[in-house]
Amino acid sequence: MEGCQQTLESFSWRAESIYPDREIVARTHEGKQRYTYSEFTDRTRQLANALDSLGIEHSDRVGTFCWNHDRHFETYFGVPNMGAQLHTINPLLPDSHIQYIVEDAADKVLFVDPSLAEKLASAYDPDAFESVEQFVIIGSTVPDLPLEPLTDYESFIEAEPTEYDWPNVSQDDMAGMCYTSGTTGKPKGVEYTQQMMWSHTMAMLTPQGLGIQDSDVVMPIVPMFHVNAWGMPFAATAAGAKQVFPGPAPEPADIAHLIEEEGVTIAAGVPTVWLGLLEYMEENECDLSTLDSIVIGGAAAPKAVIEQFDEFDVSVVHAWGMTEMSPVGSVANLTHDLQDAPYETQLEKRGKQGIIVPGLEFKVIDDDGREVSWDGEAFGELLVRGPWVTTEYHERPEANKADFEGDWLRTGDIVTVDEDGYIELVDRADDVIKSGGEWISSQELENAIMAHDKVSEAAVIGVPHERWQERPVAMVVVSEEVDRESLTEELKKMLRGEYPKWWLPDGFNYIDEIPKTATGKFSKMDLREQYGDEELL
Ligand code: ADP
Repeated sequence: MEGCQQTLESFSWRAESIYPDREIVARTHEGKQRYTYSEFTDRTRQLANALDSLGIEHSDRVGTFCWNHDRHFETYFGVPNMGAQLHTINPLLPDSHIQYIVEDAADKVLFVDPSLAEKLASAYDPDAFESVEQFVIIGSTVPDLPLEPLTDYESFIEAEPTEYDWPNVSQDDMAGMCYTSGTTGKPKGVEYTQQMMWSHTMAMLTPQGLGIQDSDVVMPIVPMFHVNAWGMPFAATAAGAKQVFPGPAPEPADIAHLIEEEGVTIAAGVPTVWLGLLEYMEENECDLSTLDSIVIGGAAAPKAVIEQFDEFDVSVVHAWGMTEMSPVGSVANLTHDLQDAPYETQLEKRGKQGIIVPGLEFKVIDDDGREVSWDGEAFGELLVRGPWVTTEYHERPEANKADFEGDWLRTGDIVTVDEDGYIELVDRADDVIKSGGEWISSQELENAIMAHDKVSEAAVIGVPHERWQERPVAMVVVSEEVDRESLTEELKKMLRGEYPKWWLPDGFNYIDEIPKTATGKFSKMDLREQYGDEELL
């Protein structure tokens, strides 16, 4: 290893040195916790000493099974700074996936939230969990559960010194790991080097990224088990910002209270979180005056949500990314040329997935492998590459062949690019509907249907059709009691105004709920399994 390395430790060192008194606040099962970067970094060193005592070495994997809070945040720096690899596990996955993931990653220690301990115990399987040498309940008491050996976090670190000489870690060392579920097959492990996480952090600090500053109060609502909460805790630390962690399964009321009480300026989460907050605000007083922006990603931000937040003077920053990309790839900031454009034009751009973040490159190719023109119309698959984009999965040669071309990642997202360079996601390659050889974007139809005020959720899936191979049908969840026939007529009329006739769904079906994936997105796979046959037409 030569020269100065791009590692995470530079960020925690800077926060401690320049911003020792800046606060870190967390909603936890023990009530609200509050401390400073100075205390935080002391505890990361106590944690490293504890892991050392346990025999954790360079490159060993340390798993977490936790919500967003201060102790989970301590593992974010404590583990990679000592040269080990932090593996965040999504506790919302089915037991069989959790078993697969723990076995595949061969985690040596597992940190577990008290509220998730029973879930982990139910997934526990002695063979799959053979590598685990220690379970640590991330609290101050030990529940009675068949996880062996078991201790609690406070006992684990309390006797340890607050000094620790961080070793010289290489930027090529693995610092993080997260599994992506994908739509089919087993979860795939994505590993992040120190350098990937460092460069992603630097990009997030730029105005073309998220532009996080020391004056910000940053609240990641996106779970810390999901691609490091989109890297927000690293970026906030690098900037020296105050951080607020919303704790186990936050409800809209919890989010509203934290924004008000802690003066949150920037928060991030998937669209459902923000739809929930908007609904809550219809019935309850909520002061959003400190909030400058909210980052929406993971699924498309509905234009109606962007408009509603504009009314509260809160700017929606729409971002697109993938687990494979650490995760942020594009952000729908307005370019300088669009600053004075009419509101409608700006809204259209802000509703797209955005402009590639500086440092990354992309191309969009059609079925014949030719690059499509940037006219906002031509569809193709998006390929990306760059310093924080992975080039392989953990021990998955088959998936590597399918998903990578040299250093280009095939995203599986079908997109257009407009003249200004804004990428718009039209569909997932797996979800796009092919009717009579032409593509219909299920996502566009969904967004259009969800813009109706009596609709709370809608998903459009393709069902097999003799003549057209596939036809779209809409699955709709209503927000209030309605006459379904007349709503269907209204929706058809609305869509007819915007889309060609052959795009209109052949059926409108009303269901109670759209099944969701473990990351809160619509699960088209489950929908297709439950409903995807000709009867819907
Ligand atoms: P998983 O594949 O486990 O759901 P990822 O977070 O890796 O988790 O999902 C990445 C995919 O999510 C992208 O390829 C894209 O299809 C979708 N996605 C992410 N951000 C957006 C967005 N802003 N708009 C629409 N889709 C998005």
